[in-house]
Amino acid sequence: MANPLNAFEKRKQALQSLKQLRRPNPDKQKTCPACQATIEKKKLMSTFYVCPHCGHYLTLGAKRRVRLTVDKDSFKELGGGIVSTDPLDFPEYQEKVRAAAEKTKIHEAVLTGVGRIDGIPAAVGVLDSRFLMGSMGVAVGDKIARLIEYADRRDLPLIIFSASGGARMQEGILSLMQMAKTAAAVEQFSENGGLFISVLTHPTTGGVTASFASLGDVILAEPGALIGFAGPRVIEQTLGEKLPEGFQSAEFMLEHGFLDAIVERKDLKKALSQLLKLHGYRSQAPSRSITNFLPGGKDRSKEQNFTDRTAARDADRSADADADADSAVSADASDDRFIAKQIDPEPDLK
Ligand SMILES: [Zn+2]
Repeated sequence: MANPLNAFEKRKQALQSLKQLRRPNPDKQKTCPACQATIEKKKLMSTFYVCPHCGHYLTLGAKRRVRLTVDKDSFKELGGGIVSTDPLDFPEYQEKVRAAAEKTKIHEAVLTGVGRIDGIPAAVGVLDSRFLMGSMGVAVGDKIARLIEYADRRDLPLIIFSASGGARMQEGILSLMQMAKTAAAVEQFSENGGLFISVLTHPTTGGVTASFASLGDVILAEPGALIGFAGPRVIEQTLGEKLPEGFQSAEFMLEHGFLDAIVERKDLKKALSQLLKLHGYRSQAPSRSITNFLPGGKDRSKEQNFTDRTAARDADRSADADADADSAVSADASDDRFIAKQIDPEPDLK
């Protein structure tokens, strides 16, 4: 007669393996942080990373955001090799940056480049909140300022998706200086007639809100995004006043005139392309290579015709543009510990 203990043991094992099967597979499934529902990762692309059960907006990494925003295969990264140094020798900072880079597959908390939106070439920057809370250190500020200057030289519209906890404390005052640097770049861009669409996503706070993110000609936000400067407790303590409920939500901001519109994630690309068209930017024939808008792009004459506004530009400035773009990266590749450094050469963009 079989040992009854063995039978129990077998049953226990069978039950455990069944449990294992039911457990969400982190490679294929994701748990919604709002409603705890298990969602197939495959499904998420079609729902724009919005929970199909409760409508919660899941965190979007920079690369995914680019994939959802620009036309397929049209994105070319700029300044991908720029990383921060560790100017204060801040404990564990470099380890944290390395871990974040590994997790997000980008070297810094912002991904910048050029791509097409419904065929319209645009300079696009996306902050990644998974990379040290999307905080702005020297490299992030540098990449954003360069993107703005690049858009300016090439007469491209500029679109930046913000998602940030603010300035990067590990770089101290140098990260605060990025607020001035990026704001000045936006100002120059604006003065030259460039269009900047700022898209605030969850969360946009601190020095990013207090600099370029709030300087868009058009400011959009995703539903429910937290937008603010300091946390509610700090503000209450400073003002000695009770703050209204939900005062840092996108909806509250819209009501109080801080935003132009709240756009659902699934409609964002359409909204952006409509705004670009409305401002006179036109889609390019698919045969035009995006590399024409990159440093060293050969097609200067056509490029100069691509918007009406270009004609009004100063000829000297545009003649300098190619040289500037090509030398911009190498000029900063010194080992000065107080500036961002270039860890590998610009990717081959041809
Ligand atoms: Zn949910």
